[in-house]
Amino acid sequence: MDHFLYQNGALHAEKVPIAEIAAAVRTPFYVYSTATLTRHYQLFAEALSGLDHLICYAMKSNSNQAVIQHMASLGAGMDVVSGGEYLRAKAAGVPGQRIVFSGVGKTADEMRLALEGGIRQFNVESEPEMQVLSQVADNMGVTAPITVRVNPDVDAKTHEKIATGRKEDKFGIPIARAREVYAHAAALPGLKIIGIDVHIGSQLTDLAPFETAYNKVAELTHQLRADGHEITRLDLGGGLGIPYEHSNSAPPLPLEYGEVVKRTVGDLGCEIEIEPGRLISGNAGLLVASTIYVKEGEGRCFLILDAAMNDLIRPAMYGAHHDIVPVIEAAPGAEQQPFDIVGPVCESGDTFAKQRHLTPVEPGDLIAFRSAGAYGAVMSSEYNSRPLIPEVLVQGDQFAVIRARPTFDDIINRDTIPEWL
Ligand SMILES: *Cc1c(COP(=O)(O)O)cnc(C)c1O
Repeated sequence: MDHFLYQNGALHAEKVPIAEIAAAVRTPFYVYSTATLTRHYQLFAEALSGLDHLICYAMKSNSNQAVIQHMASLGAGMDVVSGGEYLRAKAAGVPGQRIVFSGVGKTADEMRLALEGGIRQFNVESEPEMQVLSQVADNMGVTAPITVRVNPDVDAKTHEKIATGRKEDKFGIPIARAREVYAHAAALPGLKIIGIDVHIGSQLTDLAPFETAYNKVAELTHQLRADGHEITRLDLGGGLGIPYEHSNSAPPLPLEYGEVVKRTVGDLGCEIEIEPGRLISGNAGLLVASTIYVKEGEGRCFLILDAAMNDLIRPAMYGAHHDIVPVIEAAPGAEQQPFDIVGPVCESGDTFAKQRHLTPVEPGDLIAFRSAGAYGAVMSSEYNSRPLIPEVLVQGDQFAVIRARPTFDDIINRDTIPEWL
């Protein structure tokens, strides 16, 4: 459930009419609901109640400072995948003790940054990375707490580009080699093994792959303990999917996911961490656009919007579906017709949806993309010199711009002309 509902025929974000925000900030823009972010965090907190746990919000899904500061205020830790995200978390007031550092390509500089500022743990993804971290920490005279990310060779049955737990994927170390790699880690200076990490992919709509992976982690926990390692923390990653298509999808609920966690790793006496991103921020955001033209083509009708693939790349990149709805509901009984919904960018890939049924649309009408809060604004670019679009946060009856649209001068002046030109 989210807090984007029609009231008297007008789509609202909590108590604010979307049309009011559009008039104030101009389209296109992203709008997020604080109440929805809170609700999703609490669903996970309830699902893991009874377990010693920390919910580390995966910042890469939506890393606006206001969003992460709100998540932190609820008690969330942060899962970061770059030095930049680490610094964002710190700037939002998140203590190092609540930040975990994931990612396959951490540089020595990023490791130093995190060790200086404080870190809960590094989720190490390879032996070369382990060696570099050992050297960096040892040179600084500190100890880096680590888990090793294992790749359980489980097919998450999700989109090719966001599956991460199969043996052909670049993530983690093969679980079959885990004992050897842990022995290696234990022999290196500057590292302290504290647990195991796993993350098998994103937008999972079935619990079975989680169950298989977590059972493998439980088995590994026993083996590593038998080998003499202290395993006190299990990081189970993120990945729980959301309903992008309200009419015909119902992915598992956090509560059911929590049952799997309890059943598989609940009795190991370990602290449990999870790293949800999409499930927290995805349905907490809309992308709002205006219709520029309604163009009759050969046997089809194009809705040309002022939002484009540079603002929301998921349809072009993953063939992703977003529900697309009018901001002002059509009169009851209005007939629907199929539209191809596209942006102005000079690529055919700039198509949000084909043959999508909507009630009649006029130039100037506002259109909203649902489920756009995750992997939307964070993946946007200024392709075609289209300014990054504003982000707005709503809470109750108030709203605020939390990232302003740059001016064209801002964009032009970011480039510099060499003296010799
Ligand atoms: C992307 C990612 C997540 C978050 O995935 P969601 O599908 O957004 O929940 C968590 N952990 C790691 C290591 C990731 O790469």
